Order: sequence, then C-alpha cells, then structure tokens
Amino acid sequence: MTGLRCDENGTFLQQPTPPPPFPPPPQNNRWHPFEDRAAFDFAFQEYVDDQSSITSINRRLETWSASLFASGRVAPWSNAQEMYETIDSIQHGPAPWKVYHFRYQGELPPNPPKWMMETYELCVRDSRQLLHFQLATPTFRDDIHYTPYQQFDQDGGRVWSNLMSGDWAWEQADLIAETPSTFGSTFIPIVIGSDKTTVSVATGHQQYHPVYMSLGNLSNTARRAQTHALLPVAFLPIPKTNRKQRKRRIWQKFCRQLYHACLELTFLPLLPGMTTPEVVHCPDGHFRKAIYGIGPYIADYPEQVWLAGIVQSWCPKCLARPTYLDNPLARPRTQAKTEFLITCFDPGTLWSDWGIRADVTPFTNAFPRADIHELLSPDLLHQVIKGAFQDHLVTWTCEYLTQEYPNARAMEIITDIDRRISAVPPFPGLRRFPDGRDFQQWTGDDSKALMKVYLGCVAGYLPSNMVQCLAALLDFTYLARRNALNNVHLQQMDDALDRYTHFRESYILAGFQTSIPRQHALQHYITSIRLFGSPNGLCSSITESKHIKAVKEPWRRSNRYKALIQMLRTIDRIDKLGAACADYTHRGMMRGTTLTYTIAVSVGVILPEYPIIHVAGDGDEWEDDIGPVSGPKDESDIVLSASYESTYPHFLDDLATHIHQARFPEAARRFLWSQLNPDSPIHPAQVPIQDLPYIVSRVFVHHSAVARFYAPSDLCGAGGMKQERIRSNPSWRGGDARWDTVFVETDSAQSGMRGFTIGRILLFFSFKYQGINYPCALVHWLVCHGDEPDPETGMWVVYPEYEGNGLRTLEVVHLGTIARAAHLIPAFGGETLPEDFEYTWSLDAFESYYVNPYADHHVHELIHR
Ligand SMILES: [Zn+2]
Repeated sequence: MTGLRCDENGTFLQQPTPPPPFPPPPQNNRWHPFEDRAAFDFAFQEYVDDQSSITSINRRLETWSASLFASGRVAPWSNAQEMYETIDSIQHGPAPWKVYHFRYQGELPPNPPKWMMETYELCVRDSRQLLHFQLATPTFRDDIHYTPYQQFDQDGGRVWSNLMSGDWAWEQADLIAETPSTFGSTFIPIVIGSDKTTVSVATGHQQYHPVYMSLGNLSNTARRAQTHALLPVAFLPIPKTNRKQRKRRIWQKFCRQLYHACLELTFLPLLPGMTTPEVVHCPDGHFRKAIYGIGPYIADYPEQVWLAGIVQSWCPKCLARPTYLDNPLARPRTQAKTEFLITCFDPGTLWSDWGIRADVTPFTNAFPRADIHELLSPDLLHQVIKGAFQDHLVTWTCEYLTQEYPNARAMEIITDIDRRISAVPPFPGLRRFPDGRDFQQWTGDDSKALMKVYLGCVAGYLPSNMVQCLAALLDFTYLARRNALNNVHLQQMDDALDRYTHFRESYILAGFQTSIPRQHALQHYITSIRLFGSPNGLCSSITESKHIKAVKEPWRRSNRYKALIQMLRTIDRIDKLGAACADYTHRGMMRGTTLTYTIAVSVGVILPEYPIIHVAGDGDEWEDDIGPVSGPKDESDIVLSASYESTYPHFLDDLATHIHQARFPEAARRFLWSQLNPDSPIHPAQVPIQDLPYIVSRVFVHHSAVARFYAPSDLCGAGGMKQERIRSNPSWRGGDARWDTVFVETDSAQSGMRGFTIGRILLFFSFKYQGINYPCALVHWLVCHGDEPDPETGMWVVYPEYEGNGLRTLEVVHLGTIARAAHLIPAFGGETLPEDFEYTWSLDAFESYYVNPYADHHVHELIHR
C-alpha cells in the first residue's frame, strides 16, 4: 500500500512525471458561471457569510444597478432568484441529494399501529461521488497522507497524531495487501460521524439526523478547519411514535434495523472499491489507485449503543458487566465473538449475560475489514468534557456539599463557588461567566469554559482527595487533547488515569455510583490513541461545529414547511460556492480583495500568491480576543497593536508621572543598557545609575499586543495558528483598568513553568534608540511559591513580589521574551467572597494565585511537560 502515482487508466507511472494539467476554465470566462470576481464575491458573501434574505439581496442588487446606471451597465442579476440560478449552475460540487423510501415489511397485525404503515425517507448523497469530490479538492494538497506511516520523536519513540499515523491504518494496509492486485494502491479510510442528540429536524411523523463523512487521510488540523473536510452525506430518518408503542420490542427492532439499513445503503456505493482498486484524482493533481475502507465512527454513548447493537449501560468495546465496568480483566468485544455467541445462546441470555441485542446486525458487517467495536472512536466532548466532568464530577461535587453541610451552609458554599467563577480574571478566549447564573445548568461550550476555571474555584471547599481527583481528570483530558502524543504523554495519561481512579474512591465513599459507561470510556482511550492517533482529530466537537453550518443555519433559513428539502438545497449551494472558491483559489484568482483584484486585473498587474491577510481589527479594542490566523506554524511572534495612544505624554519622565510609576524611567534605561550590552557578565540591576543610557526620543504607549502561536488542537486557522490579544489598558472598554498577566521567558535552559516568570503588564510601549525600535513592556513580577506546584491542585502558586519598601518589583522586558497570556486564578482559600466583588479587582485583591494550566490546551502544554 505505497500510494504510487498512476495515469487515468491505472497504469503506474515508471518515472516521476508532473501531474496532468489542471482542466482549463470553461467557456473562455475564468469566472464562469459568474460574470467576474465581484459577482462571485457578492454571491459568496450574501449567501454563505451573511445568509441574507431574498429581500435584502434584492435591495442590494438594486443599489448596485443604480450605482452603475450612469455608465450604462447593470448588476449581474436583477433579483435574488437569478443569483440562485447562477449558483445552482456551478459545475463542480459534491453529489446531488437523492431520496429513498423505507417502510415496515413484517407481518401486519389486524389493527396495525400507524408507524407500520408510514413511509420513511432517507436523504443521501452518493458517498463514492462525494469521496471523489473531497479527494479532488486541491486545497488538501499539503494536509493529506497517501500511505499509513509511523512517526518518531527525537528519542526514537513513537508519536501518534493523524489517523494515518496510528496502528489501525497500518494493520488495515497489511490486511489489504494480502491481495496482490492491491499492490501500490492508496488506503482511503472513511471517517463517519453522526450525532443523534443534537437538534434534529422534525417534519411531520419523522425526524432526521445528519451523518457526516471525512477522508481519513487528512491531517487532524485539516479535518477540524478546512471547509470540505467533513461533509454531510445523509439524513437518516428517525421514526416517531407514541409512548405505548415505544416500549414495544417490535418497534425498537424496527427503528434499529431501519437505522442500520440506511447506514448500509449510504456507504454501499463504496463497497466495490473496498476490494478492487479504483483510480481516483488526488489533491496533488495526480491519479492513484485507491482501496476504501470504513474508518473510525464518531458518536456519543447513546448512539454507540445503537451502532454496536448492545444493551444500554454495557460497554461497546469490552465485555465488562455494567455493575463493574472498569474490570481490568474484561475481554474486548469483537464482531466475530458476537457472532459466535449468537450461535451459542438464546436472545435472553445474550441480553442479560453479554449485553448483546440479537436483533441488531451492525451495518459494518456488510463491509470488509470493518468491526464496529473497534471503530468506535474516543470522544472527548461527550465522554469526558460533558460526561465525566460536567455530568458526573461537577454534579457529584454539588451533591456532596449538600450532603456534607447543613442546608444553609451548603447553599452559601455553592453560591460562593458561582461567585468565584464569575470573579476569575479575564483571559483571551475565556467566556465571561454571566453573573448569578447557576453553573449547574450550563451546557455545551459552557462545560469547556467551566472546565478551565472549576478546579481553582472549588479548592478550599473540598476534601483533598476530591480536589486531586478533579486535577487528575483535567490533566488526562488536556493531555488527550494534544495534537501529537508520544510514549511519555501516553505514560502521563496512564498515570493521570490511575490517580483519577484512585481518588475517585472518595466520591464512591460519598455514595456516588461510578460504574457508568462514559466514566468507563476513559479506560479505552490509550488503546484508541495507539490505534487512531490523537482524539482531537476524531472528536464530536468537529461534527458539532459542522452541525451548526450544515443543519442549524440551513434550518433557520428555511420557512419550516418541508424544511428538509429547502435545507438540502441550501447545503448544496453552500458546498457549490465553497467548491468554486477552492477552484478559483487554486487557479490564483482569489488573490487580494475584491477591489484590489479588480484594479490589478484592469491595469494588468499580478497580485502576490497569497491573499492579503488582515489581522482581525488591528488596534481595535473591541473585537474578539482570540481567533484563528493564517500562516506557517513556525511563525510564532508577538507584536504591539498598530495604534498607539497619541494623547499620552511622549517623554519618559512625564509618562512615569502620568502612570504613577516613579521608577519606570530607571527600569527602561536598565533595559536599554541590557539590550546594548547583551554579553556583559554584569547584571543590569548592578550597573551604577550614571552609566545608564538616556532615552530622549518619544515613547509610544500601546494598549494591547497580539501574540501568535501554534495550537493545532483547537478550531483554528488551517495551519493551526492562533492569535490572542493581551491588554494593558487604563480603561478597558470604557470601564476599569485591565492589566493582563503573561508568561515571560526568564530561563531558557529550564522546561515548563520553571523557565517562565509571570509578569503583569503595567504598560506596553515602544521607543527608538540609535535608529532601532524597541517594543517592550513594563511588568510587575509575580514569583513562584516554592520549587514545585501545589501538591493538592497540581497548579503552580505565584504571589506578587514587592521590594523591602513595599513597592512593586518592576522591570522592563523586551516584547520578544513574552510567550503569551497567562491566566491566574486567585487562591480563594476557605473564605467567601463579598457579594459586591468585581472581577476587575481580582488581580489586586489576593495574596497569591494559581497559574491556571487549564486556560487552554496550549498553556497546559507550555507549563506541564
Ligand atoms: Zn469497556
């Protein structure tokens, strides 16, 4: 399975040959079926970005025509309908939707219930055509692996990252290669995802829920970020009936069989290509012979139960009994074992002793080399973040407090935990927690946000064992979220899991039942990572975010009447516009903005290869704090915001008075001395003041800086780059001052937190000296308490440093030594916060702080090595 290049007819190329030329644009007009770049950009913006209504598109088209009236021309369309027709006529795009009808075909009782007589619709795209469409997307060129591979770190140990780096793909290739006719071909696993619990579309007597597919060969970052990496392939019918019917075995059997029959039909077009190689066009423009395979399936627990054909509360991956799921001796489930057991036992025994539903045949049985028990992939979002953390630990903690303390005191503590959560200092990308909202009721993204701050806020109120239990689960989760894991990380995960199960005893002693499938799922993670690579490439958060674009938004745009048909049309148009955009980008036609491109074409200039990247709202203090950014991964940097405060005093001494930091000029001069004498053995603090250089130029004050860094596990730019804005602002958003805290690299020889010191930015400024520009920051140091993190929470504790005379320890540092923003959580202890406490006071009001490693997974990686 070496992924050799071949020609259109499947003959392997003997010599390295460039890919066949890209097909020429149709009908002499590069922009066909659009008039020009402006028309395409208009359609894309109105339809995809703004999701404008017909009325507003009509209005804008009219304005457009009016503006052209004097020149005797008109807008490309006279109304929205014409624009839609143009979009529909785009040639490239995924397969069209088809509808299949299903109905109950068993024996009918004398008075059959309604559901037996109804027809159920499956809306589906041809999965083979869809796969070919995804494969031919040129933007995947740098994000695809044509062969399974093994990756190693500097120490020679294995690294698991993308799906193709895992043992599963490797073993599949070995199995396929047993057939000589497959030699030289490319293994293409299909990643499938569906989510029954998210909003499904109800029309009449049936609901639908979407199934997505993705190329297993793509990198994790591409699967998370690229437009066509994950596409809806089917909407499965979910029959509805009344409560009485729902309890009937025959109804349950029908629903499950319908479900598997639909999935089987969806992927049936790929079946011939799973054994006989098929020539496909790849993102790099070359042809290859492909062998398909059903790949990992992303689903949450209730759906895993359906998929695996097991009984509720059993594990889909092993035979452990529901009463003792974490049994280390439990044997893995396999399809072969299930089939054997079915021949030996009656359905009742299978149900009670093995957790097997004899009336369900998983759809994977229709496909070669596919075992559903193996293919169910780990799912951080539902199993760990929403499950083990939010639904279990957070709920148990609350219940524990109400058991342990008299009612009034328990309520006081729970209210105070809420207040503490609202009082954590701001951090780029951290949702502000709404005041007075009970965190018990938070869902979805809220659980991710809660996970970031919960530990610091409950410490002091819980027994040490429970705090350590929480810390262990957080470490496990944050390790699992990394984009690449090596043996050391897997060992750390194993240790965290051991600690977690050990300290979880404290919850068991408090009377909580922990033998729950989503708790138990953690036990299968490490094996799954070896099989499928990092869980972040297969998480249901990917299907969930696609769900917003592919289901929720098209649903909102429909008029609710026969909504599905309208939604499918919307999805089709969005995909077509996306495909056209990818094609134009590949042909170099999407360079610059609409205007710069149009001007460049009219004067005959060729714009640079890459589109102009606008750093979001540069200098604007109101835009989002954090977001994706394009660029290669080694371009980490930090820059001051482009705008500066021109009303401030311009000279060092005046500025010092203005910000009430009398020692600022001296600190700045010592900084400059260290910059001018980088190799001097003398510490700048020891230099006599008369030897320090003077700064006589104007000093510019900035209110923020933007740090860019590589953080491939979050939804971010295609390359994995992220940016965040760090603030040092005397009146942020017109309110109180906001002085963020950052990691300053102070010892490059040390790893993790030992290499950093926390600094609070009192001022971002820049000045020129002898023609060189110095971007810097005035920081107040917060130093570590001891040489180790706090044994209970596992977090480092820092405290603000003061000199003997009670003044803050200040220093000016070069902007380049700042790694990124640090999030501090006050060490609240056992005291309750005053009711009127404002979060803007947090960084001034406490004696010590936890350095929050859970602010995001990148910080965790930065300080937890
Ligand atoms: Zn299990």
